[in-house]
Amino acid sequence: MWYQKLQRFLYGRYGTDQLNLFLLVLGLVLSLIGSLWFWPLVFVANGAYIYALFRTFSRNLPARQREYAFFLRFWGPAAGWFRLQKLKWSQRKSYKYFKCPHCRQQLRAPRGRGKIQVTCQKCRSVFQTKT
Ligand SMILES: [Zn+2]
Repeated sequence: MWYQKLQRFLYGRYGTDQLNLFLLVLGLVLSLIGSLWFWPLVFVANGAYIYALFRTFSRNLPARQREYAFFLRFWGPAAGWFRLQKLKWSQRKSYKYFKCPHCRQQLRAPRGRGKIQVTCQKCRSVFQTKT
């Protein structure tokens, strides 16, 4: 009975996505900073929570999808950067990471090989580096 009511209530509503998760984490960080250092930030944190709730229960799906697409334009590259840093950290003992001096392509080579000659896979330029 209550389950069907809940189902009917949630039908056609947007639900949650990565932007909502981002808003909740942002709210958590802001309320932590706010409680320790600058209290008006707590209002901004509550604003982020309320916005996340509003998005979850919204029936205006096209508007929420537009917001999400806008968010992903910034978050996509940022998330990729965080993934790369995590990968670099986990492989820091076995690989050296460096960029191609010509096209800035991210490259890696096994550590402990001394001075090596590298051919960039993207632009085919050849340069030397130490691993
Ligand atoms: Zn290159």
